[in-house]
Amino acid sequence: MRAPVPTHPGIAMRNALTIDVEDYFQVSALTPYIPRSEWDVRESRVEMNVERILLMLDDYGVHATFFTLGWISERYPQLVRRIVDNGHELASHGYAHKRASEQSPEAFFADIQLAKIVLEDVGGVEIRGYRAPSFSIGHANRWAFDCVERAGYSYSSSIYPIRHDHYGMPDGPRFAHGTRDGLLEVPVTTMRMFGRNWPAGGGGYFRLMPYAVSRWLLQRVNRVDKQPVIFYFHPWEIDAAQPRVLSLDAKTRFRHYLNLHRMERRLRQLLFDFEWGRMDEMLLEST
Ligand SMILES: [Zn+2]
Repeated sequence: MRAPVPTHPGIAMRNALTIDVEDYFQVSALTPYIPRSEWDVRESRVEMNVERILLMLDDYGVHATFFTLGWISERYPQLVRRIVDNGHELASHGYAHKRASEQSPEAFFADIQLAKIVLEDVGGVEIRGYRAPSFSIGHANRWAFDCVERAGYSYSSSIYPIRHDHYGMPDGPRFAHGTRDGLLEVPVTTMRMFGRNWPAGGGGYFRLMPYAVSRWLLQRVNRVDKQPVIFYFHPWEIDAAQPRVLSLDAKTRFRHYLNLHRMERRLRQLLFDFEWGRMDEMLLEST
């Protein structure tokens, strides 16, 4: 049964829905527990989970942007073509999911250039957008924007300007802006309150907070800031049955597994309550 098409009373703004396509064992926080050498032998769940997401988006007539790993597109070309054939934007999450902040400029450039080539070969479309793993571009490695621009991308969505032990730029601009290198950076959505930025655009926070709080935060961004929301999630976040990594420390375990079983229902509500589209189309509309 198809869900009704929402009318979005009072909110006419088109927001950007983005998905970071990686498997559960590639998450940066799990790097200390799952060596890269095991990626090819772990049970893969990404195909199944992205298929579920494609069906869900179809139910609401929503097109989204899929920031996809080059590593994934080489192994699951059919999946990448399904994303493109269903009308979504294919974008890049780099090749090997290494944080920009942990690489030399040369290694980082090689990784994002390879990802663009691989994704364009498999998807048959131009790749315009890039998102750094774990929002790992900050004040200390602003050179990364120059690499993204030189590699041929036209925009980046690599900053989540909040205080976080893994992310890069807590006091960075909250909305789309040009970098010194002539690149357009489109940060994930935050809400400004009590003199600091609070997470609103996805990640573990969306699973942690009651949905009504998330909705209130995002509505404020549309109505008060008069800016579109940039929201993101991962395929593994809708997969409550994913294999458990047993040795995780308490904080990582809490962040990774919290409320996975509630995620699809919340996402469906989010798809119903707001107007969503692809990042590239939203950028075109707002320029
Ligand atoms: Zn990622």
